[in-house]
Amino acid sequence: MATLAQPKPAMQTRPKLVVGMVVDQMRWDYLYRYADRYKANGGFKRLTGQGFSNENCLIPYTPTYTACGHTCIYTGSVPAVHGITGNNWIDRLTNKNMYCTEDDSVETVGSNSAAGRMSPANMLTSTITDELRTSSNYRSKVIGVAIKDRGAILPAGHAANAAYWFDNKTGNWISSTFYMKNLPDWLTRYNNEKHVDQYYQKGWSTLYPIDTYVNSSTDEQTWEGKPFGAEAKAFPYDLSKFVGKNYNSIASTPWGNTMTLEVAKLAVQQEKMGQGAFTDFLAVSLSSTDYVGHAFGPNSIEAEDTYLRLDRDLGAFFDYLDQTVGKGQWLFFISADHGVAHVPAFLKSHHQPAGLFDDGAAMRELNVKLAETFGVQSLVMGSMYNNQVHINRALVDSAHIDNDKLVAQIVSFMGKREGVLRVFELAKTAQTTLPVKIREMVTNGYMPNRTGDVQVILKPQYMDSGPAGTTHGLWNPYDAHVPLVWYGWKIKPGKSNTEVYMTDIAPTVAALLQIQMPNGCVGKPIEAVTR
Ligand SMILES: [Zn+2]
Repeated sequence: MATLAQPKPAMQTRPKLVVGMVVDQMRWDYLYRYADRYKANGGFKRLTGQGFSNENCLIPYTPTYTACGHTCIYTGSVPAVHGITGNNWIDRLTNKNMYCTEDDSVETVGSNSAAGRMSPANMLTSTITDELRTSSNYRSKVIGVAIKDRGAILPAGHAANAAYWFDNKTGNWISSTFYMKNLPDWLTRYNNEKHVDQYYQKGWSTLYPIDTYVNSSTDEQTWEGKPFGAEAKAFPYDLSKFVGKNYNSIASTPWGNTMTLEVAKLAVQQEKMGQGAFTDFLAVSLSSTDYVGHAFGPNSIEAEDTYLRLDRDLGAFFDYLDQTVGKGQWLFFISADHGVAHVPAFLKSHHQPAGLFDDGAAMRELNVKLAETFGVQSLVMGSMYNNQVHINRALVDSAHIDNDKLVAQIVSFMGKREGVLRVFELAKTAQTTLPVKIREMVTNGYMPNRTGDVQVILKPQYMDSGPAGTTHGLWNPYDAHVPLVWYGWKIKPGKSNTEVYMTDIAPTVAALLQIQMPNGCVGKPIEAVTR
């Protein structure tokens, strides 16, 4: 009897390793702003020269904060679905203030502080890293690394092999019992070597003579924050006073990124990532750019020097991956969780409109006004979260207050504050006359039990911040326009100015790997990248 020819199964071709990199607070324009001193063998010119750049990648929701951004990149979803509605939010059912990755059911691994009581439990959807694990029947390895817990935990997903982050109490890289019982030996050895103290001994001086930093304001401006103490006003920063005692300040120096990439490299080497039969995924987030940016602003020598040093660190990291995993064998993408605004006082010094908005003062005065009308104190919570006014729902119910009347008074009061552009009730966003883009971004950020009641939209370049430093979180392009560059395995050089969204990153990775997209994904694959 003739045997039927067996059809050959379609061969899956996949990279050996995927490296996802999120540069915390990296504005899109940083790809070009400092390019005069990016190196040919550094990171950024390799990416823009040999990779594919989506030049107009936008965040499709507000608020544009760290936890939401990392979650969006890896889930292809928005806060309205994945549930990470801020770094912090109020759980409206319990009135409890929640931190995005807090989890009281787990313990710290690697130190005796509480910094490890974290997990991805509050994230409601799967990540692309989860889908990779499932697709390989959990034989692919997934590891997340970042200084910030949320920058490591949310990208690595629910089914991760490990996530490691930095404990600023002890100076150790740690994890939680969600992932493991003990740190791997290689990380314990790294911790025992006290690299942070070595970086503190080096201090922070500029890579080039300081008067060559022509892309930035001169050093020591009144609008700069002082993360290294009131006396440390300008370069060079002596950090030796922190040795052995302060492990918080390292995050505000470029050394935080250097150290993160050291741990990432060790994870690749020691866990043999990209060296097995299944595609592995390393999710790295570089947090120091965010700390430096908040303190000094985008027009500072500190920011410029941080990106020049990051360019070199990335170049060395790429060389390492070429040597260990093999050139063309690893797929890389780089993006940011959000951008950042210029410091208002800096812009004002150049006659550009900008200003500050004090949310605590607004809530105090609002509560006084509401008490006059309704006879009840503290009808709204004392601070705004994510630019939203939170009504104390239990009080409103027990005092039988008409919610519509209350909301109308909040909208009217807030609408008159300095710096406010628009105010509206979140449950009625669809009926408000806002530009479609802003309305859609607010809608995508809205989850009734994890958001407030009344949304405040500030005028462009207004922010809830002090007189020094800057922040992000709003719908505006300076916060919502991020880099997105693909590089390595099967990526053809090129660029596109077509608008794409942060939600498109995960489905594009899914298409390249031929795996299922995450279960809350609302984005679509970027055709120009997958061709
Ligand atoms: Zn930030």
